[in-house]
Amino acid sequence: MIAEKNKVVSFHYTLKNVNGDEMESTREREPMSYLHGANNIIKGLEKAIEGCEAGAVFVVTLEAEDAYGTRNEKNVQRISKKHLKGIKKIVPGEVLNLQTREGPVQVTVIKVGRFNVDVDGNHPLAGQQLTFDVEITAIRDSTPEEKEHRHVHGPGGHHH
Ligand code: ZN
Repeated sequence: MIAEKNKVVSFHYTLKNVNGDEMESTREREPMSYLHGANNIIKGLEKAIEGCEAGAVFVVTLEAEDAYGTRNEKNVQRISKKHLKGIKKIVPGEVLNLQTREGPVQVTVIKVGRFNVDVDGNHPLAGQQLTFDVEITAIRDSTPEEKEHRHVHGPGGHHH
C-alpha cells in the first residue's frame, strides 16, 4: 500500500532548521498520523511522502514556501496592554492565544513596553528552510468517518 489520497499515514520525523538545530521530533513518542490529501500537514512534506510505502526512510529539505510559508511583517503588531487584561505573565518569547474578530490567533510576544506589547503572529517556523528526517511506520485505509471529518482518529490523531 502506498501513501496516496485518503490513506492514513503514520510517520516519525525529526525536524531541523537551517543550522541543524533540532526543533521537533516524534522519536520519543508515538508517530504522527494524518489523512493524506486533506491538508493535515504542510504541503511540501505531504508531497515528499506521496507514493512511499511503509518502512520508507528519507530526508527532505523544504524551502519556507513549501513549509510554514514566508514571514509577513504585517503580522507583527503593537497592541495595547489593556487588551491583554487577564493574562498574568507577559514576557518575550511567551506564546499567547488572542481572541480576535477573525477567531483565535496564536502570537509570540517580542517586546513588552509600559503600555504596549509587540507581538508576532507569524508561525514560529515561518520564513525558515526546514529539513525533515522521515520514517514511514504504517499506512492504512481511512474509515468513512475519517474521510468525512478530514482527519485521523485514534493513535496519533484526533480523540473525540
Ligand atoms: Zn473527527
